[in-house]
Amino acid sequence: MRMSRLLFATLRETPAEAEIVSHQLMLRAGLIHKVSMGIYTYMPLGYRVLKKIERIIREEMDGQGAQELFMPVVHPAELWMESGRWQVYGKELMRMQDRHGRDYLLAPTHEEVITSMLRQDVRSYKQLPQLVYQIQTKFRDERRPRFGVMRCREFVMKDCYSFDRDEEGLSVSYEKMAHAYHNIFSRCGLHYRPVAADSGAIGGSGSHEFMALSEVGESAILFCHSCDYAATDEIAAVEPVPTGVGEEFREIETVWTPDCKTVEDLARLLKVPAERTVKTLCYMADGQPVVVLIRGDRQVNEIKLQNTLGCYELGFANDDEVRAMGMEPGYCGPVGLRSEIKVVADREVPLMVNHECGDGRKDYHLLNVNYQRGDYRIDVTADIALVEKGAKCPVCGAPLDLARGIEVGQIFKLHTKYSEKLGARYVDENGDEHDMVMGCYGIGVGRTMAAIIEQHHDAHGIIWPMSVAPFEVEIVPVNDKDDWLMAEAEKLYRELQQRGVETLLDDRKERPGVKFNDGDLLGFPLRVVMGKKCHETGLAEVKVRASGEVFEVPLADLADRVCALKQQMMAELTAPYGWEADI
Ligand code: ATP
Ligand code: MG
Repeated sequence: MRMSRLLFATLRETPAEAEIVSHQLMLRAGLIHKVSMGIYTYMPLGYRVLKKIERIIREEMDGQGAQELFMPVVHPAELWMESGRWQVYGKELMRMQDRHGRDYLLAPTHEEVITSMLRQDVRSYKQLPQLVYQIQTKFRDERRPRFGVMRCREFVMKDCYSFDRDEEGLSVSYEKMAHAYHNIFSRCGLHYRPVAADSGAIGGSGSHEFMALSEVGESAILFCHSCDYAATDEIAAVEPVPTGVGEEFREIETVWTPDCKTVEDLARLLKVPAERTVKTLCYMADGQPVVVLIRGDRQVNEIKLQNTLGCYELGFANDDEVRAMGMEPGYCGPVGLRSEIKVVADREVPLMVNHECGDGRKDYHLLNVNYQRGDYRIDVTADIALVEKGAKCPVCGAPLDLARGIEVGQIFKLHTKYSEKLGARYVDENGDEHDMVMGCYGIGVGRTMAAIIEQHHDAHGIIWPMSVAPFEVEIVPVNDKDDWLMAEAEKLYRELQQRGVETLLDDRKERPGVKFNDGDLLGFPLRVVMGKKCHETGLAEVKVRASGEVFEVPLADLADRVCALKQQMMAELTAPYGWEADI
């Protein structure tokens, strides 16, 4: 490609709306263009990267025997009614009607369509297992689209689905996908780690998320230095440490606590440490009021809470909703709650002796409250607390460490959740019918691209790993008026292309400084600079973007040298990169 013909525009300034480096650099390098909130165009250079990541994914999926197909983005509501998700999927699901008033949706994921297809085409055990995938657009009307293509509304996902006879078969498919994911993310040059994960709204149990390690990651990972344990904070278990154990139950005391709305205010006024208080939080879960109890110094993990409740939409109740539950905001408590309000408590709460809590009435709190004495009711007890750094490892007891990660992929065991609902069954050797046992496996292609930039950049711009770079090498002749030099550059450009190296020739009528700055920003792994010296010494410079190394190479050897460097840089990306495989 000749750069003079390339459709691209780089920006000198950092766009104000971009909070994280990958978003800033993707905009500054002109890789993406915003069309609307959370909706982007990939420009030619950005699209080349996306296609390369897709190619790596395809090779690894095909390598595991997965077959590629292509499903639609617009799905009829009936199919989603069969699975039950039409009724319960929240506002992330983009719903619409056609001219006949029939309901449709934009696919956020494809379990329904694939399962309904398999139920028609696969009848016998002889046709199993099946492993199919696609690389397709998804639409999720995210509550907070942000960080560019990292969390957008329309995005490209690789989604793969496995269909097996039984759990054993599912485990084999799951392992195959885990293996493919290790290869994919290593080849993309990512430092990543698979961690045990929550299976979310898709359902099923048994799941791992593949996390690209990054400070800007939205996911928190708890991991242990002493053993292999690693899990997202969405599922990492909290060991209950109850307080007051062994004490006699004391009389309940009502205390006047004006202007004490927080646990800290109260702890100060009453001289009660936060771990001896119970926080009462009011939520609305799918429109129903829920009261949540947790030790005062802990935080609620809303994903765990959502899983406990089995709800789709969860949010804090507003002041009016709290009052409708019969309590004053800031002074909520479990004693005397109306029976129709569901009470969920963290595992520690029923074990606590003589704890403090709100009274329900404005300006009052209660001391020496005890669930074990029957002072209040709990409907569900579950682990709903957020794990914090330093908490005990549930496997070996050592203190857990915290890292942040970008979820670039996830693999789930779905078991028979969808096959049962949609009737995807097969007949075995004896003529008996069984539900197919399913798994599903996603990778965010655009998010992977953004994660690569987060891990590979410097003050000047992007540093693409060789495997995903939009062009592998750029040739920069420094003087476009020097015919001999331009002819040499052209010769090299042709030769490299013939030898399969993706080459960009910067033939623009620009100053060398502009060309170098653009090259650094766009992040091509190798740069050949043909300057004045070429005339005098017959030498050109080959510069490695990542290390800054510069080699002086005779013109006649340039193509060989570039090819060798490319091979070497590709080879470095094949070995597992980040943490050791631990699935
Ligand atoms: P998240 O928790 O980040 O919202 P998810 O768990 O809902 O993601 P999955 O259903 O597991 O996402 O989708 C598979 C992959 O698709 C994710 O691992 C991620 O890489 C990508 N992905 C999901 N949502 C988005 C989004 N809004 N923008 C870009 N990529 C996304
Ligand atoms: Mg996920």
